[in-house]
Amino acid sequence: MIPPAFDYHAPKSVGEAIALLGQYGSDAKILAGGHSLLPMMKLRFAQPAHLIDINRIAELRGICEDGADVVIGAMTVENDLIASPILRAKVPLLAEAPKLIADPQVRNRGTIGGDIAHGDPGNDHPALAIAVDASFVLEGPNGRRTVKADGFFHGTYMTDLAEDEILVAIRVPAFAAGTGWAYEKLKRKTGDWATAGAAVVMRIDAGRVTHCRIALTNVAPMALRATDAERALLGQSLTDASVAAAAQAAMAICDPAEDLRGDREYKTAMAGEMVKRAIRAAAARCQ
Ligand SMILES: Cc1cc2nc3c(=O)[nH]c(=O)nc-3n(C[C@H](O)[C@H](O)[C@H](O)COP(=O)(O)OP(=O)(O)OC[C@H]3O[C@@H](n4cnc5c(N)ncnc54)[C@H](O)[C@@H]3O)c2cc1C
Repeated sequence: MIPPAFDYHAPKSVGEAIALLGQYGSDAKILAGGHSLLPMMKLRFAQPAHLIDINRIAELRGICEDGADVVIGAMTVENDLIASPILRAKVPLLAEAPKLIADPQVRNRGTIGGDIAHGDPGNDHPALAIAVDASFVLEGPNGRRTVKADGFFHGTYMTDLAEDEILVAIRVPAFAAGTGWAYEKLKRKTGDWATAGAAVVMRIDAGRVTHCRIALTNVAPMALRATDAERALLGQSLTDASVAAAAQAAMAICDPAEDLRGDREYKTAMAGEMVKRAIRAAAARCQ
């Protein structure tokens, strides 16, 4: 319950925050919504000597359109994703799925950027970002670079983010007309992390799947893109056999940790079930 002592910094710009990261190196941590970092500090799993609070940097918040992309500031909180008319119209999966994240109080503080940067396989945004083909804009001392969500997550708490970089925005291509989508999350209770989750984005034309992205939550050290599962559907019509083949392919890449949510066999089976449900739900939304 009692976090260790730390120095607190509240920069007003991204440049200032990056300079502080450069100054304090691995002794510093970015503080976003604080709903993963502070719990870890209270348990003394993390003991940063400097917290760099980025809540006062206005440019990191908000959702706007930029050509065919929707751009979400990293400090946008979950409840603002849910309420966003732009997301509802252009990338509805990212307005609906956060309703399944944590609880209302956490969603008023927890940010999409923090959820992604944390690199927790239990978090929901990593798989969602992969499914919607998001890119992440990272800023460091040498400027900005943009990386794909698919490939960003390397392992538990390990991502492409360098120690002196800040995730500033998430760029998402607007869904093409008629795109279907779903996020199916099995959890023990409201506010819990997924036992297994599956995100699906799909288009169907003349009865055949023409576009399909499938990503999995909490069934491996990091969120996974299930490319073989996608291949099992592309060009096919949705039948019990093609959906079962996709689920089987997704289960084949699962490598879940055993914990109080279940053993490997159970979590892997549940990943398959979530994939089946998400495919069916996404298909029902395709037009
Ligand atoms: C009771 C409870 C239930 C929860 N349930 C869920 C759930 O079901 N699903 C889910 O996905 N999450 C869940 N969470 C986690 C919650 O969504 C967190 O808010 C989220 O994981 C981290 O976001 P944050 O903004 O709070 O980041 P913080 O806790 O402030 O930071 C997390 C980490 O990311 C780094 N960081 C944050 N922002 C940036 C940035 N812009 N650039 C670089 N590094 C950055 C920090 O330095 C830190 O290491 C839950 C949390 C609680 C307390």
